[in-house]
Amino acid sequence: MCGIFGYLGTQNATPLLLSGLERLAYRGYDSSGIAVAGQNNDLKVLKASGKIENLLKLNAADPIEGIRGIGHTRWATHGEPTDINAHPHTSRLGNIAVVHNGIVENFNDIKKMLKASGHNFKSETDTEVIPLLIETYLKSTPSLEEAVRETVNQLEGAHAIACISSNEPEKIVVARKGNAGGIAIGFGDNEVFISSDMAALVPLTSKVAYLDSSELAVITSNKCRISTLDGKPIETKIHQVDIESYAVAKGGFKHFMLKEIMEQPEAATSVLRGRVSFSPTKFMLPSLPFETKEIQGFSRAIFLGMGTSIYAAQVGARYLENFARVPASVENAAEFRYRDSVLDEHSLVVAISQSGETADTLEALSEAKSKGARTIAITNVEASAITRIADATLLMHAGPEIGVASTKTMINSMIVMYLLASYFAQERKNFSLNEVESHVHNLSKLPALLGDAIENALCTVKSVASKYAQSKRFLFIGRGLLEPIAREGAMKLKEISYIHAEGMSAAEIKHGPIALVDQETPVIAIALNNPLYEKMITNMSQVHARKGNVIAIATTKNSSILNNADDVLWVPECPESLQPIIATIPVQMLAYEIAEHLGNDIDQPRNLAKSVTVE
Ligand code: GLU
Repeated sequence: MCGIFGYLGTQNATPLLLSGLERLAYRGYDSSGIAVAGQNNDLKVLKASGKIENLLKLNAADPIEGIRGIGHTRWATHGEPTDINAHPHTSRLGNIAVVHNGIVENFNDIKKMLKASGHNFKSETDTEVIPLLIETYLKSTPSLEEAVRETVNQLEGAHAIACISSNEPEKIVVARKGNAGGIAIGFGDNEVFISSDMAALVPLTSKVAYLDSSELAVITSNKCRISTLDGKPIETKIHQVDIESYAVAKGGFKHFMLKEIMEQPEAATSVLRGRVSFSPTKFMLPSLPFETKEIQGFSRAIFLGMGTSIYAAQVGARYLENFARVPASVENAAEFRYRDSVLDEHSLVVAISQSGETADTLEALSEAKSKGARTIAITNVEASAITRIADATLLMHAGPEIGVASTKTMINSMIVMYLLASYFAQERKNFSLNEVESHVHNLSKLPALLGDAIENALCTVKSVASKYAQSKRFLFIGRGLLEPIAREGAMKLKEISYIHAEGMSAAEIKHGPIALVDQETPVIAIALNNPLYEKMITNMSQVHARKGNVIAIATTKNSSILNNADDVLWVPECPESLQPIIATIPVQMLAYEIAEHLGNDIDQPRNLAKSVTVE
């Protein structure tokens, strides 16, 4: 979580650092800070708890200047989000400043050792051990580079670090170990920018190099020298990035989340492009390196994800099993990582991470790979860390998503998995030519259906939201392919409205959760027109009989639903396999409107961040 930004060149670093941090704020934002090397190279540090505006105000009141600096937006893991705990953290003499993503897992031992040798700690963070260790190593090593290397090698856990020192004024040293956020190094004319992700570099440059895990870079204004953490030199590969695809602005919408919901029909078009052919009808996944024989040989598939990605994966696993008859299961990546799973080369592991940086998912994928499984990453961020681990990558092509609550990346993850399952079914000969044709046809209708679902929701969702916004909790129920959408609906609502919500199989409610049902607990029933519709009606009437309010999400033609629902959010009629994708629209929009009604900070909800790069 959180973001790192750095600058080294000829301009005043401070405004560049501050605007870079604003662009990174979606990653984590409980506090922020900058360290800038001023005249005489002495380091000046500004830090503020709360949003980045607080740091901007601090700098406006007493500006700091210099041509080199590092900055950070924090998502606290150790110590509250106070001014003191904000990064950068400095050495005892104040001549070394460090910003850090990740968790120093052995920080208690290091802290004890440093305390025993006379160091005092100003903050409660784990990060503070880093500048103190660098300072200690500088007594016995010739350069900042070596001191940072020694230090990072001593840290357990996953880390991304940037460091400046007033004693070696021409450079910034950055290092990465494990998966705690990326480091992108952007090149301008005699100036270099450092950022946790490419998106924050977009207005500045399109030439970028990425640091891999276990690498360190020494950056000067016209050079970047990369080596491994054990000191072997590595060639710096500079990529030319297509910056058009990173354009981000709210474009007249009140929130990024709303804009991103509205963009979903277009995002669905992008993800299909080049992957379905209409004449002849077929599925194509050119980025998949597996031969047909290998695809036919897979005996099982495991889908890994966290948060929204798990719910998308639950839909994806059902697609793969239904279409391609590959036994498929879904696992929480953090749990998978620590259990000794049985895998071989006939196991396919598909990991979903919208940022491509999710620490739990990256580690789980590496674990699967080391056990011989074949691996696919599904991500929205080109060249992100996950793409460097997996055998193959399927990009979501959703465009940048800034709102912390995932919307279009959820929709596009499901579509990518639909494509994957269909492609497998085609290659394994589970689909007849007619079936290929009918699935291609269904997918071609998807962007328009998403547009209709948005239109429908716009008509009713505001009034339903205002009717129920004061409820103390919500239950979401669904069956079959719609059960994961019930879970996603509950998650979306929790994330941005802070109202407690649970999502579950509609069949499950009578086994316990129905005890929660009362007049203040609305139940959202996702009851689209499919073979489980009647079962859903039964579950809804069980709720009604206990005086619970039922808000149904239903297909326009099922008007009989009105006998069992207090309110209805209508979605367009669509093939059953597309229902989870279409039903996601009203649950997103309901969560959005309830949060808006409550006046919450929708794009940056409390305690959350976009890229979860810590365990
Ligand atoms: N562990 C560090 C802290 O709590 C950094 C956390 C992060 O990655 O944001 O300050």
